[in-house]
Amino acid sequence: MDSCLFCKIVRKEIPAKIVYESDTVLAFEDIAPAAPVHILIIPKKHIATVAELTGDEATVSGDLIQAAAEIAQEKELDDFRVVVNCGEKAGQSVFHVHFHLLGGRDFSWPPG
Ligand code: AMP
Repeated sequence: MDSCLFCKIVRKEIPAKIVYESDTVLAFEDIAPAAPVHILIIPKKHIATVAELTGDEATVSGDLIQAAAEIAQEKELDDFRVVVNCGEKAGQSVFHVHFHLLGGRDFSWPPG
């Protein structure tokens, strides 16, 4: 999608610190980290929210989780959190699916 921020990162039109790339997935450092490790993991294809990961679109879900696990391993994170905000009320601000991989500190529960 032309105007989507994360699609521009996929197309390398705006810079990002990329930590992982496959045919279907890109991962890069969050610009405003909420933890010592804060990586965003996105499908290269534009899909607005995790609620749309159904039917044919669901096939990328495993790739996103696999990327999270491989990045966590590479960063030597034993404990980490994967967060997906879906919709404005849940805190989603960029409408291109992204998993937040957070690590390097303790986390509380429930989340805010
Ligand atoms: P969410 O609020 O769940 O939609 O998360 C969007 C995330 O994108 C936030 O954590 C932002 O800090 C992050 N973000 C916004 N712009 C950029 C950018 N240009 N590069 C990397 N991360 C970004």
